[in-house]
Amino acid sequence: MEKKLCPSAPFKEGNKIFALFDDQQFKFTDHLEMIDGELTREVMEAEDRAMYRTTMPCVTKGCGNWDGQKCTVPDQMRYYLSPLTDIEDFRNCPIQKGCRWYAQEGESACRICPLIKTRVFEPGASVSQG
Ligand code: SF4
Repeated sequence: MEKKLCPSAPFKEGNKIFALFDDQQFKFTDHLEMIDGELTREVMEAEDRAMYRTTMPCVTKGCGNWDGQKCTVPDQMRYYLSPLTDIEDFRNCPIQKGCRWYAQEGESACRICPLIKTRVFEPGASVSQG
């Protein structure tokens, strides 16, 4: 079975960008962009390191956010954030078909997703966030 995609992967070489924050507005990119070494260096030097949302295959039990059955990030975020009421734009998400959160919760996940800025990991740091 094909692996689900983590929609909140760390900014890391080999992962793919599917959305970004343009002047605080969440927008999907036209295509999935593979993160290479040059872009990694540029982003690490930039002030707003969390402007990209990236994806990678979900690692389930290899991630601290996996509870054995599901990813707990949407539930954690709902504790801090108020879900969006208008998600018309997010129905065009380029990773929706494979998205772990969408598979778990459908559009309910998309109401939280655009509000999340993923923490940027330093190169070489271990990956523990889903
Ligand atoms: S939760 Fe919804 S908007 Fe976010 S990546 Fe998954 S399908 Fe796309």
